[in-house]
Amino acid sequence: MATKYIFFTGGVVSSVGKGVTAAALGRLLKERGFSVAVQKLDPYINVDPGTMSPYQHGEVYVLDDGTETDLDLGHYERFIDTNLNHVCNVTTGQVYAEIIAKERRGDFLGGTIQVIPHITNEIKRRIGLVAKTTGAEIVLVEVGGTVGDIESLPFIEAIRQMRSENGRENTICIHVTWLPHIGATNELKTKPTQHSVRELRSIGISPDVIVARSDVPMDDDLGDKIALFCDVERQAVVPMATCDVLYEVPLLLERAGVGDYVLKRLGLGARRQPDWSEWQRLVEEARKHKPVVQIALVGKYVELHDAYLSVRESLHHAALSNGVEVVINWVSSSELEKGRSWDAVQNADGILVPGGFGSRGTEGKIQAARYAREHKIPYLGLCLGMQLMVVEFSRYVLGHEDANSTEFDPSTSYPVIDLMPDQRSISDMGGTMRLGLYPCELQPGSLAAEAYPQPLVQERHRHRFELNNTYREALQARGMRFSGISPDGRLVEIAELEDHPFMLGTQFHPEFLSRPNRPHPLFVAFLKAVKKPKYPDNL
Ligand code: GLN
Repeated sequence: MATKYIFFTGGVVSSVGKGVTAAALGRLLKERGFSVAVQKLDPYINVDPGTMSPYQHGEVYVLDDGTETDLDLGHYERFIDTNLNHVCNVTTGQVYAEIIAKERRGDFLGGTIQVIPHITNEIKRRIGLVAKTTGAEIVLVEVGGTVGDIESLPFIEAIRQMRSENGRENTICIHVTWLPHIGATNELKTKPTQHSVRELRSIGISPDVIVARSDVPMDDDLGDKIALFCDVERQAVVPMATCDVLYEVPLLLERAGVGDYVLKRLGLGARRQPDWSEWQRLVEEARKHKPVVQIALVGKYVELHDAYLSVRESLHHAALSNGVEVVINWVSSSELEKGRSWDAVQNADGILVPGGFGSRGTEGKIQAARYAREHKIPYLGLCLGMQLMVVEFSRYVLGHEDANSTEFDPSTSYPVIDLMPDQRSISDMGGTMRLGLYPCELQPGSLAAEAYPQPLVQERHRHRFELNNTYREALQARGMRFSGISPDGRLVEIAELEDHPFMLGTQFHPEFLSRPNRPHPLFVAFLKAVKKPKYPDNL
């Protein structure tokens, strides 16, 4: 069968859940027996989001192969539960870099290099690579931003060309828009949607399906209106009110009949009946009244929750399987340094220090780790959170007051966290970290080995610094245990404390492998420790 393509564009405003919609529709098609992959086309000029501030872009999501991607790839993997690869996130920067390199090599000698056809051909080639490298029968392609942005024009033009080259029966376009709610008259407005569809038409694309997002449910007559003014079939107008449980979105799309409609438009029939029982159970579980546990998430970018999107989702996945509800106390580590926000840490049942770069706020995180150790509060450290847990232990248990990571203090006398020799000569900032899947052997009898079902695991990485092997023995002698080590013995992957209910840090990022129906074992173990009563003797 020819590869089928589903293109997603956004109208009116961004951040209305285009990525989640694409991911959820991917799930609907997978449930019908098709292999699917999802690709994001990002119109910005950076080669990848790896060098962008989380304030600008939210979390940087990492794939198995080490590609640093947009956070929407996290939604895709969590919903379709298929691991994606480097072709699944394309940026304008990558496309231009490729074409310019070819031009310099002389591949186009004599030619004038233009957006059409050179840039658009390269975009089409990269869209084509998804099916080739993943084997997907249906490829869902999301264009970042909203229609009307200058940057996205070449992507839309490439899609326009693909529609005629690949055939209408093999390509459909879904436009995700926003219906604003007018408080004074208590109504939703379709006018901006009409305008954005007109804009899309003016650049050559008529949408086949319109997903109308809104904060409150939409009346039927508004659906009629959108169908009429935007020239789509009535059943192709999909109302999608904001819902409180993210993982309900596939169920909502299913109820709206989008899965069957899309297949029909692509000339396909379902190969099997979708089985939603697991998702229904997840949503029911999420809605149930459950005991609340508070987790202090001590980070640098806490004002923008998207900066820790996968961490937040992983906590929710693990909470569902533990029968608790997680409330996250977002704690700014810089505030802790000023002696503020400590109540949010002290009231918490568990402390989580996520990944991060740069020295701002690191001392606050070290103090949070110290609090967790001294008060025997469950602690989970992810990447930087693990490194700082080791720094804390070196300072306050081993007594090396100026112990640090050389990332923050290059002249420390006790560099417990340091660059590996192979990272020292690197000066480029983009794509040069230890990235992607690496193996880790678990040490029998440890918390880590107890948590995972298997003794050898593969986890995703994104960091430069490592635990300095010179100090392994000294740390071990005082009760730190290296419960996860690379099979060649060179790299510490997991550290944990012996004399503590649960204080564990990972050099990798387990949050990238947690799925709603397969919560990550370390998050599950963390919350299991968290939900144990703090003072059992008093009960
Ligand atoms: N900044 C640290 C390093 O580069 C930690 C990175 C992270 O937390 N992802 O090693």
